[in-house]
Amino acid sequence: MVASYTQLLAQRYKGRLDSDADEFIGYAVDGSNRMQDLIQDLLAYSRAGTNGKVLREISSENAFKEALANLRITIGESGAIVTHDLLPAITTDDTQLSQVFQNLVGNAIKYRGAEVPHVHVSAARNGGNEWIFSVRDNGLGIDPQYFEKIFVIFQRLHGREEFKGTGIGLAICKKVVERLGGRIWVESQPQKGSTFYFALPERQKE
Ligand code: ADP
Repeated sequence: MVASYTQLLAQRYKGRLDSDADEFIGYAVDGSNRMQDLIQDLLAYSRAGTNGKVLREISSENAFKEALANLRITIGESGAIVTHDLLPAITTDDTQLSQVFQNLVGNAIKYRGAEVPHVHVSAARNGGNEWIFSVRDNGLGIDPQYFEKIFVIFQRLHGREEFKGTGIGLAICKKVVERLGGRIWVESQPQKGSTFYFALPERQKE
């Protein structure tokens, strides 16, 4: 309600009051939009650990495609090229896996440099009973000193003016992946792109 009505105020009265009023309405619209994003992301974070489904064998390729469908507008606007290898069948929670793909691919596009974003997703079995998924980008990259920090809720390396965001996305990924019995990490260098990895156990008994 607050967001809708401040937006309505902005639409109907922009230019009809004085310039201070336009500025204040602008702040109110911006603030209510951010509040809405924050509430949505906090809800997603709180549900990530508890609202999981019973694990079953699913196609991780389908979970990935679902994430891409949700990112259709972002991909279209940025001109990003998203490619992927064949992704395996795995016993897990498809909705939560899809959320992890969506957050990681979304970030790979958001934190892009001057070049057209290229994102590549793949999966490989490691020696143990795990699948290691990776999401590689050609974006801004991350200084190694922040590799742990970025997975902590509200921790951001970029200001709000530069890139929109609440600092919750990677914390959700970590919570979900850990609930699924896995782990998540990043390898990167500033200006050289980043690769986010997450390992999921191949078989999970629950
Ligand atoms: P948000 O994107 O809302 O800030 P996240 O938790 O998803 O929150 O990410 C935390 C921070 O990690 C981001 O603010 C950004 O600085 C950094 N980051 C995440 N993904 C990438 C990426 N692919 N390339 C460069 N930096 C990234």
